[in-house]
Amino acid sequence: MQLTNRSKVVVDKNMTLMERMYVPAIVSGMLITLSHLFKKKATIQYPEQQREFSFVYRGKHILKRDEQGRENCTACGLCAVSCPAEAITIIADERKKGEEHLYKEEKYASLYEINMLRCIFCGLCEEACPKDAVYLTEELVPASYNRKDFIYGKDKLVQPLGTSAHPKTYKPYKK
Ligand code: SF4
Ligand code: SF4
Repeated sequence: MQLTNRSKVVVDKNMTLMERMYVPAIVSGMLITLSHLFKKKATIQYPEQQREFSFVYRGKHILKRDEQGRENCTACGLCAVSCPAEAITIIADERKKGEEHLYKEEKYASLYEINMLRCIFCGLCEEACPKDAVYLTEELVPASYNRKDFIYGKDKLVQPLGTSAHPKTYKPYKK
């Protein structure tokens, strides 16, 4: 029984002289190679040239601030629990008096780390967050020879103050 129409019947016949010299196969292979010289190239000169990302592309995370510049994250840990790669580490802390301008609610993350080598950019942390705090942006995680460079702490994750008007870098994937 045939599952597809792509199967070929193999004939056990003797090869001709030309076939034994592989000349037709080499010529047809060269013709295919030559024809590609005149076709539009599939490759680009990265990093000078960059492709347009899909609108659902998920890159580096950002921990959002609210419109008053306070961190949205309340260190509930739902993102860490939902992360299939166990890439997120959080330490929660209590907001002290006088810190109301820094953190939106009574609890905040004194440590929030994402291991970008473990992360598979699935976006589940973003889906799980009840506080609109973590988003995956269109920003690439840059390459590095050092494993330490891939542990992103709050210094790299929290949205810098006054950057909400940066649509390319900090545009949320979730509308
Ligand atoms: S994008 Fe996925 S893998 Fe990466 S930190 Fe979020 S939940 Fe974990
Ligand atoms: S980013 Fe969201 S889900 Fe994760 S700890 Fe903060 S508030 Fe909770």
